Amino acid sequence: MKIRIELNRENCISCQACAFSDPEDFEMSAEDGKSTLKEGTENNGTMTKEIEANDDRKEKAVTAAKGCPVSIIKVYNAENNEQIAP
Ligand code: SF4
Repeated sequence: MKIRIELNRENCISCQACAFSDPEDFEMSAEDGKSTLKEGTENNGTMTKEIEANDDRKEKAVTAAKGCPVSIIKVYNAENNEQIAP
């Protein structure tokens, strides 16, 4: 399925949990130490990316969203805009 990941990086507290649970999608910025979405686009502090995800890939993104202590990661079904996590 196609999923969309959104990251409001402005409020990131740099705990690295997302980069640990979903290293294919998240990495810590060398510039400001906050999380960034690999190959994501940024608009007003929010990063977005869409990927074609198998179950494993989707679960990693969902785990990242559920594990973020400040709830700034969201995962949507990109086909119907239904929020999958958190
Ligand atoms: S889990 Fe949340 S707070 Fe922690 S680094 Fe990732 S986006 Fe930032």
